Amino acid sequence: MQEKGNISIHTENIFPIIKKFLYSDHEIFLRELVSNAVDASQKLKQLSGIGEFKGELGDLRVEVSFDEAAKTITISDRGIGMTAEDIKKYINQIAFSGATEFVEKYKDKGDEQQIIGHFGLGFYSAFMVAEKVEINSLSHVEGSEPARWICDGSTEFEISEGDRTERGTDIILHVNMEDSAEFLNEARLQGILDKYCKFLPIEVKFGEKDKQVEDGKDDEDKPKYKTVKEDNIINNPAPLWTKSPSELTDEDYLAFYRELYPFSEEPLFWIHLNVDYPFNLTGILYFPKVKNDFEMQKNKIQLYSRQVFITDEVKDVVPEFLMLLHGVIDSPDIPLNVSRSFLQADGNVKKINSYITKKVADKLGELYKKDRAEYEKKWSDIGLFVKYGMLSDEKFYDKAKDFALLENVDGEFFNFDEYKTKTEALQKDKDDNLVYLYSTDPAKQHTFIQSIKKKSYDVLKMDGQLDSHFIGTLEHKLEKTQLKRVDAETVDKLINKDEKIESVLSDDDKEKAKTIFEKAINDKNSTVAVESLASDEMPVIVTMPEFMRRMKDMQRQGGGGMMMMGDMPDQYNVAINANHPLVAKVLGSDQEDAKEKLARQAYDLALLSQGLLEGEALTQFINRSVELSTN
Ligand code: ADP
Ligand code: MG
Repeated sequence: MQEKGNISIHTENIFPIIKKFLYSDHEIFLRELVSNAVDASQKLKQLSGIGEFKGELGDLRVEVSFDEAAKTITISDRGIGMTAEDIKKYINQIAFSGATEFVEKYKDKGDEQQIIGHFGLGFYSAFMVAEKVEINSLSHVEGSEPARWICDGSTEFEISEGDRTERGTDIILHVNMEDSAEFLNEARLQGILDKYCKFLPIEVKFGEKDKQVEDGKDDEDKPKYKTVKEDNIINNPAPLWTKSPSELTDEDYLAFYRELYPFSEEPLFWIHLNVDYPFNLTGILYFPKVKNDFEMQKNKIQLYSRQVFITDEVKDVVPEFLMLLHGVIDSPDIPLNVSRSFLQADGNVKKINSYITKKVADKLGELYKKDRAEYEKKWSDIGLFVKYGMLSDEKFYDKAKDFALLENVDGEFFNFDEYKTKTEALQKDKDDNLVYLYSTDPAKQHTFIQSIKKKSYDVLKMDGQLDSHFIGTLEHKLEKTQLKRVDAETVDKLINKDEKIESVLSDDDKEKAKTIFEKAINDKNSTVAVESLASDEMPVIVTMPEFMRRMKDMQRQGGGGMMMMGDMPDQYNVAINANHPLVAKVLGSDQEDAKEKLARQAYDLALLSQGLLEGEALTQFINRSVELSTN
């Protein structure tokens, strides 16, 4: 029996197109062929399971091998095999139509690069690296004849009698030495297998490796060792996510984490995902300890489809705020052969997204309830996810508001309700707004925090990288609540209760003080005002209005639309405390320049207390201080 034929297609030669499309990702041919071999083996297992295949299954191991001299790579399995008819049907028609369809769909679109690595082109991806592909197969069906198929990358193929005597299939690639010689290399092939095939459900053998075994005793009765060869199995066919959580211990999860990320610190905790309706998804997500450079930590989740590695760019499958998690997600229901924009619109993907979000929220809620103290300890790591989630996902906010924590500058933690209760009595302003005070840098803002504490107000610590956004979210979500940074205003105005403190200065003196200070400060970006503050407050207090600083913050973080603030200098309010003895002393000095010197000194002290004094101004301050204390 020998038959020549023509693969019927209506497009131009498909192979150059396949090559061009997948240029950067040729290596996936191995993933495709090995997973076909695994599929064929699993199908046979299934047939055996339902009694349709009555023979011995035997060893179903898949084998990958290469021969440098013959310039071939071979993928062999002992699966269901194919007859000549099967090959015509599955390879010539079905596989080919799949490839044709694919090329038709994408050849005119600009996003080839995007989809690369996100789909399988199937059997025909073999032609990305081979100039000739050979199939040598014997079907599992009793009495079948072995069949051989050869195709040289044109649209012509040849089917003849094969010589395989054992059930299963060999796919033999005659490697194209012009552009694909790199694949005839052990390390290269091992690398590809590690990347894509590490968790395939059937054992995959690639060559052999050395193993030390005991070999009797030496003269001193110590054990001797010798090196023997054993099969190099490249995969773990039963990865943890495929098992039932009830069978697993913490140590199992930690060991699997180490298997995935050999050099990482231990994770904080993990979530085992397992759904089969309305979509299929399994996986394990780990919460890592988050380092500051959290951009670096993204793309740590690996996406699998039936244990075949697809990609570690899970951007559209996992909610953005959970991209910092590590682990694996396995779902046959995620469409892999479509472009990004389609993926975002896909119903299953959306459901998967909200399922994962819900699971994560449930887990956090559970940890919070179970052991609050432990949860607080982990808050510096967990908090980042929770805040990120609350910022970006309404649904998550609604769940997380019950287990999100606020930390004050004394290291105490409160949930939202607790904090409201704590502050309600004292921190309401004249309009009945609750005012939360926060510090972004308790060391630098120490003076302000001290004044605030004198009033028995509380100060939150908001020094995390997401906190400036989080503050906005809180204000938006919490009823009649404002957040103000400790140095946004003088303490009486932070929470304005409309209580007037009498001024010891006459209006006339106030005007005089203002003029002297304005001259001494000599900065057109500062607005000077003389105010009646408590006499134990600082003589001069420099503040930046909340709205102004938030705009500046946003702009610094690259917030859109804030570009016009680019050249705007920092604007400060300078409050002169009319009730401080130092101000009276300024007014009382008999010489103009003595007045100014003292005023400047008081202003510099205010700057100094906030770390704002630097450069020439700092040097002048030091010199002036030396002079004043020597006189
Ligand atoms: P897919 O795997 O998505 O079906 P492929 O192009 O990879 O598409 O393969 C096409 C078909 O060829 C398979 O569905 C299967 O029927 C057949 N096939 C491919 N490789 C093998 C193999 N090693 N053993 C048996 N059948 C195979
Ligand atoms: Mg396939």
